[in-house]
Amino acid sequence: MSKTYNPYDNVLKVVSEAAGILGYSDSDIEALKYPERELKVAIPVRMDDGSTKVFEGYRIQHSTSRGPAKGGIRFHPDVNPDEVRALAAWMTFKCAVVNIPYGGGKGGVVCDPGKLSEDEIRAITRRFTAAIAPLIGPEQDIPAPDVGTNAAVMGWMMDTYSMLKGHCVHGVVTGKPIELGGALGRSEATGRGVMFTVKNVLKKKGIPAQGTIVAIQGMGNVGSVTAKLLYQGGLKVVAVSDVSGGLYKKEGLCIPQILEYLSKDRKNLLSGYQEEGITRISNAELLELDVKLLIPAALENQINLSNAKKIKADIIIEAANGPTASEADDILKKKNIMVVPDILSNAGGVVVSYFEWVQNIQSVNWTEETVNEKLKDIMDSAFDAVWNIAESNNATLRTGAYLIAVKRVVDAKKARAIWP
Ligand code: NAD
Repeated sequence: MSKTYNPYDNVLKVVSEAAGILGYSDSDIEALKYPERELKVAIPVRMDDGSTKVFEGYRIQHSTSRGPAKGGIRFHPDVNPDEVRALAAWMTFKCAVVNIPYGGGKGGVVCDPGKLSEDEIRAITRRFTAAIAPLIGPEQDIPAPDVGTNAAVMGWMMDTYSMLKGHCVHGVVTGKPIELGGALGRSEATGRGVMFTVKNVLKKKGIPAQGTIVAIQGMGNVGSVTAKLLYQGGLKVVAVSDVSGGLYKKEGLCIPQILEYLSKDRKNLLSGYQEEGITRISNAELLELDVKLLIPAALENQINLSNAKKIKADIIIEAANGPTASEADDILKKKNIMVVPDILSNAGGVVVSYFEWVQNIQSVNWTEETVNEKLKDIMDSAFDAVWNIAESNNATLRTGAYLIAVKRVVDAKKARAIWP
C-alpha cells in the first residue's frame, strides 16, 4: 500500500461529488465527514509458547442515523484507523443503497491469523469482544465476518458477549454458525450477491453469461463463492489468486477442484495447488489480464495510479471493499471501463446479515430458499435503481450508488435534526 493512500479520503471525495449533484450545502453533509465513535483497544493474549503478546484493535461507528451500526471485524496485519474508518463509512452507504435499516461500523485487530493457532485466535477474539462490549449490542452495533474472520470467530464473539451479559444474545453478531442462530445462506451471501450483480450487468450490456471470461483476485469467503457460482453459471474463470499469488489457464480453471483443495486445510494457499496446464501469475499480473470481467475480491487499493492505465478488462465488479483508488477511477472512466461499485456489488453479505438479525430478534427461522429469493429481490432492485439514476445523470455507477445512498443518509439526519 502506498504511504500517501488514505481510503477515508476516497470516501469523502465521492460523498462530496454526490452531494454536489444533489444540490446539498456543506452543512448538509458536514456531520457525515466525522465518524460518530472510535474506540482503540489493547488486547493482551497468552500465546501458545507461554509468552504474552499485546494486539491492537479498533471498533469505529461511522453513522447510526439510519439504525444501529453494522459492519465486519477484520483480522489482518495491515489493519489501521484510516482503513477501519473508511470501511465503517462504506458500510453506512452500503446499507443505505440497499435500503436496510442500519448505519455503518467496522472493527479490526492487527494480527495475521495465518500465523496463529486456533487457541490464539479464540483468545484474541474473546478479549477483543470484551474490550468493545460497551459499544456493541443488537440495538447498538452488530459486527459480522470480514477478511481473516469467519463463522467460528462470530460464534466466539456471541458467546463472550452472552457470558458478559449473563444471558444468550443471538443478535449481537451476524454470520454466526447455524447452530448459534446463524442464517441459512449467510456464508455464501456476499458471493451470491456478486453473482446477481454480474448477471444484472451482463443483461444490461447484452452479453451472454456462457463463456464470458473472468479473473478473480482473492479466494477467501467472497472470492471463492463468487468463483463457484460464476463457474456453475457457465462463465469461464481463467484466473484466480490469493495472498500467495495467482493461477491462470486460458481454457478456464477447474474451480470445484481448486475450492476442494483450499477447503481441506485453512492454511492451504494457491501456491501449493497443482492442475495440468496452469501458469503461475502474480496478483499484479492477474489485474492486468485481458478479460471481460475483473472481480477484485481481496483488499482495498488494488487498482491504483500505478496500474489503472494497464487494466484491460471491460467491466470491473468490486467484490472487495474499496479495491479501486479514486485517482484510478478517473483513469478507468476515461478508458471507458465500467466499474460496478463495492457498496452495491458486495452488499449481499450485509443484506443476509440483516435477515439473520431479523430472525434472531423475532426468534424465527427462514429457509435458505426464502433467504436467497429475498436477497435476489433486494440486489436486483438496488442494481436497477443505481443503473437508472446513473444513466439519467450521465454519471458512473459509483456516483449513481452514492446519489441514492447519500440522499437516504442525509434525509434521515435531517428528519432527526441535531440533538440537543
Ligand atoms: P477472506 O479473509 O475470507 O479472504 C481474503 C482473500 O484475499 C484470501 O484469499 C487472501 O489470501 C487474499 N489476500 C489477502 N491479502 C492479499 C493480498 N495482499 N493480495 C492478494 N490477495 C490477498 O476475506 P473475505 O471475507 O473474502 O473479504 C474479501 C473482501 O470482500 C474484503 O475487501 C472484504 O471487506 C470484502 N467483503 C467481505 C464480506 C463478507 O461477507 N465476508 C462482505 C462484503 C465485503
